[in-house]
Amino acid sequence: PAAGSPYPDEAPVSQALFDRAKDIVPGGVNSPVRAFKSVGGTPRFMVRGEGPWMVDADGRRYVDLVCSWGPLIHGHAHPAIVAAVQRAAALGTSFGTPTEGEVELAEEIVRRTPVEQVRLVSSGTEATMTAIRLARGFTGRSKIVKFAGCYHGHVDALLAAAGSGVATLGLPDSPGVTGAAASETIVLPYNDISAVEAVFRENDDIAAVITEAAAGNMGVIAPREGFNQRLAEITRANGALLVVDEVMTGFRVSPGGWAGLEPVDADLFTYGKVMGGGLPAAAFGGRTEIMSRLAPAGPVYQAGTLSGNPLACAAGLTSLRLADDSVYKRLDELSATVGALTSDALNTAGVPHRLSYAGNMFSIFFTDVDVVDYDSAKTQNAGAFKAFFHAMLSRGVYLPPSAFESWFVSAALDDAALEQIGAALPAAARAAA
Ligand code: PLP
Repeated sequence: PAAGSPYPDEAPVSQALFDRAKDIVPGGVNSPVRAFKSVGGTPRFMVRGEGPWMVDADGRRYVDLVCSWGPLIHGHAHPAIVAAVQRAAALGTSFGTPTEGEVELAEEIVRRTPVEQVRLVSSGTEATMTAIRLARGFTGRSKIVKFAGCYHGHVDALLAAAGSGVATLGLPDSPGVTGAAASETIVLPYNDISAVEAVFRENDDIAAVITEAAAGNMGVIAPREGFNQRLAEITRANGALLVVDEVMTGFRVSPGGWAGLEPVDADLFTYGKVMGGGLPAAAFGGRTEIMSRLAPAGPVYQAGTLSGNPLACAAGLTSLRLADDSVYKRLDELSATVGALTSDALNTAGVPHRLSYAGNMFSIFFTDVDVVDYDSAKTQNAGAFKAFFHAMLSRGVYLPPSAFESWFVSAALDDAALEQIGAALPAAARAAA
């Protein structure tokens, strides 16, 4: 739309699809945050994407600042990724046998990251779930330490104070997670090393500490200087493992993920999102000494009918090979530009906020307190975010429909897309005031 002539709030074709879906799919969606529950209104059903743009079922065009919640660093339908998937599909969609593509993707991951061995799975949830099992199998201990507001997928043991959709929907911890599963999980405040030291003084049964490499699921909060490395030292000194979850940061913030910005001696790493190029692929990896405990090399079981799927490997490998230094430079520049444009507009309109970065991931907190953990993230003005979100949406900019999520840029974001963001911001900032 031209600046000043927003799309109507009603989206009749999307609404009709949503109504149809609600009859047969719980809440009408296959992942909760997609339902727009915390911001209200009609979730947009998308029909196609092209570079930085998405087009919905009502024929409206949006600049996409969600990028499928992170994977699409090259934007939508990159020709090389589409061609790679087409080539792979024509050869067969799945074999249930090893294929060369899996070896190539694993080699690319090992080349870019600190891991010596890697196992491919289909979702970030599977990656963290198995990393936890492997840590327990390796150490012979049972407790897991996680941080409030960090999300590691919907693994029972990790769904405590979990951020992401749980925060968006304001849910208490999920019914269905048994007391037994929850009692093995210790939740500590993010960025608080003294709490970690204290918990290790009181417990000798901790198998692992798991942390997001940089928090991105309570909004974006970078780890304090030295926080991750102290976790590595404390776990090592106490015979526990450190699992660094790079599902969101991996291959987005640098060629090697967060580890490329801040090397940390973690024992296990998890990956997802970018490494699948928009298809379902994820991974976990670490030192051979630990990874060799996995079946069939060792006794810790893990498996998957579609693990290492040839289409997902083709998309992921192509996406990673396209992601050279110039792509990361562009992602850094674009995230700085979009963050600054947004913050300037909010300042002009007098809207209290904090612009928070971790590498090229960022989010805006609608609060006037410094955000360092889940409690401070939750001081946000939900009404201000909601007004801002809808004013941007109606002016053709698709933001995460939650105040507790990272914004994601793609390297495909061009001048026309930046202009559309710039044109939408003043009115959206006024709406949030
Ligand atoms: N870990 C982190 C840090 C994530 O951000 C996510 C998803 O957003 C996951 C794990 C779970 O990944 P998936 O949604 O692929 O199961």
